[in-house]
Amino acid sequence: MINIENNLREIKERIAIAARKNGHKAENVKLVVVSKSVDVEIANRAYNCGVRDFAENRVQELIKKSTAIPNATWHMIGRLQTNKVKDVVGRADLIHSLDRWSLAKALNRRAEANNTEVATLLQVNISGEQQKAGIDSGEIEDFLESIGELKMLRIMGFMTIAPQVDNPEETRPVFKKLKELFELYKAKENRNVDLKYLSMGMSQDFEIAVEEGANIVRIGSAIFKESN
Ligand SMILES: *Cc1c(COP(=O)(O)O)cnc(C)c1O
Repeated sequence: MINIENNLREIKERIAIAARKNGHKAENVKLVVVSKSVDVEIANRAYNCGVRDFAENRVQELIKKSTAIPNATWHMIGRLQTNKVKDVVGRADLIHSLDRWSLAKALNRRAEANNTEVATLLQVNISGEQQKAGIDSGEIEDFLESIGELKMLRIMGFMTIAPQVDNPEETRPVFKKLKELFELYKAKENRNVDLKYLSMGMSQDFEIAVEEGANIVRIGSAIFKESN
């Protein structure tokens, strides 16, 4: 049995406690429900429990579920191949996984063709793990300064994935670092850049992320877990 309603209630409570702990407003933290591990029927049950923000990490699933549940906001959180861009522009409301300049150009080209702006988050690889997507923190400045060339692209914030660790506390420096960079670049003016969202925290580490200032958390397994 999956009790989505209970799980949601529990997660929201834990978000609220973590937010209050560091003086953040719980209502400013958006819970994005990651539906990648469940089918449309289960995702629909989450919708019926009031969920309006969903995320997928694969384009095929994004197409399938966003078609079945059109009245929700859809987030793309997975690595995006350039040849799949056409299926995502106009379908994902926010793309969290902008991780290279060639992808920015491809998204912009498609956005111009569709005459629609594309909202993205810049994915930053804070931990420096080789296998993780995302630009290095040292590349952020150049990226933000250049994005004005791409007329239909918008960068609305930053996203990161913390390393998998046994003790979630070990992720704190990663979140702290991205929050610092977020505040630093928020204070600068760049064309097509409006840093509002800091997307960090998953099932295992969202409380630490919220304590450190995340205003979007992406949670899947903790919401769709089985209970007895
Ligand atoms: C799967 C995924 C999540 C959610 O992870 P859970 O551990 O299931 O909460 C969040 N962000 C990204 C980028 C993911 O791929």
